[in-house]
Amino acid sequence: MTDTTQRADYLIIGAGMAGASCAFFLAQHGSVVLLEREEQPGYHTTGRSAALYIESYGNAAIRALNRAGKPFFLNPPKGFSDAPILTPRGSLTIAETDQLDALDAVRAELAETTTGLEIVEGQRLLDLFPAIDPEKTVRGLYDPNDMDMDVHALHWGFIRGMRDKGGRLVTDADVGGMTRGGDGWIVETRAGTFTAPVVINAAGAWADEIGKMAGAKPIGLIPKRRTAFTFDPPEGLDPDRLPAVVNVNEDWYVKPEAGRFLGSPADETPSLPTDAQPEDLDLAIAVDRIENATTLRVGRFHSRWAGLRSFVSDKTPVVGFEPGLEGFFWLAGQGGYGIQTSAGMGITSAALARGAALPEEVASQGLEPADLAPGRPSLADAAYFTD
Ligand SMILES: Cc1cc2nc3c(=O)[nH]c(=O)nc-3n(C[C@H](O)[C@H](O)[C@H](O)COP(=O)(O)OP(=O)(O)OC[C@H]3O[C@@H](n4cnc5c(N)ncnc54)[C@H](O)[C@@H]3O)c2cc1C
Repeated sequence: MTDTTQRADYLIIGAGMAGASCAFFLAQHGSVVLLEREEQPGYHTTGRSAALYIESYGNAAIRALNRAGKPFFLNPPKGFSDAPILTPRGSLTIAETDQLDALDAVRAELAETTTGLEIVEGQRLLDLFPAIDPEKTVRGLYDPNDMDMDVHALHWGFIRGMRDKGGRLVTDADVGGMTRGGDGWIVETRAGTFTAPVVINAAGAWADEIGKMAGAKPIGLIPKRRTAFTFDPPEGLDPDRLPAVVNVNEDWYVKPEAGRFLGSPADETPSLPTDAQPEDLDLAIAVDRIENATTLRVGRFHSRWAGLRSFVSDKTPVVGFEPGLEGFFWLAGQGGYGIQTSAGMGITSAALARGAALPEEVASQGLEPADLAPGRPSLADAAYFTD
């Protein structure tokens, strides 16, 4: 360690939505430095999402985190954001004749936790989404609860709020190595050396790589590529008032996006951690599925991209200290839910990283620290868990 080493109480690696939300809630309890490799903190998965809040999406732990964070999204602190974080959108899950059993199963599952669901057919289906092809789609399940999220406002609200409380964002700070010394972790980056008793690993698809640098056991994280693109609506159709539409098999979806449609084949192709790019085949598959099931015609892509949704075997995020490795804290495995769970995950991670109990907003949703802990049995049992 040299005289130029910069000290903090908490170093957070990765300034995507996970790191930023943790930093926001932690900054009132100690000094925080948020280290980001890229010039822009939203460059990777956070800046590539579909920006949906679907309260019923994900397993029980994810749904608990969704619910725990919703009050924050609806009523963030004064000055957090000029724009609302959530705006009503609604969603329509659609089925062809041979998919009606699958739609019934989705309805039965959602009905346990969701109110306001409506089975729609015929003219009502077309009124909700005029580009449905009635020759193909016979029934839909409308959920009025789903919302659009303003990802940029949320992400920068967290970062600005952290700065207001004295925290620092350091970009172009690629963490290349770390060691544990007498005073805590010493973390080497392009932007200098930093030290803190607690390091929080919020490195998205790279979380297992950061774990390896620290000498932690891998959590078996698998980044999975998902492709998306935007395209123009047909003449006379205003997408903005329409719900998101997803096929009941979840093998494609479209959602309104700033006057256009966003489409995706809902792909989940395992990938190395990397700057993901869309593959022509995935784009072609999405176009084919969307054009087969609807009267939409993609024509040309207005924009196209891919991002990595990173999962562990049980699809629940990993939040907690690595057993036997003092001061090394995981905040990884946000999967396809890292935007909508961010407030719930932020309050959870900020509490657990300072050794506090799970906040009441989260505990009251039935979640316990053991459900998220890195040493939990469901991770150790995973087929691809490696020692
Ligand atoms: C197409 C698509 C659609 C999606 N739709 C939704 C949706 O509708 N709703 C939803 O909730 N979620 C959605 N998601 C998932 C969501 O985007 C992610 O769960 C979330 O963005 C993950 O955030 P993160 O902070 O963990 O990762 P990231 O945003 O990837 O941030 C991790 C950061 O760590 C940094 N980093 C890595 N290694 C280092 C290092 N060595 N040193 C310093 N920094 C490092 C990276 O540069 C990166 O900025 C979607 C994802 C995709 C791809």
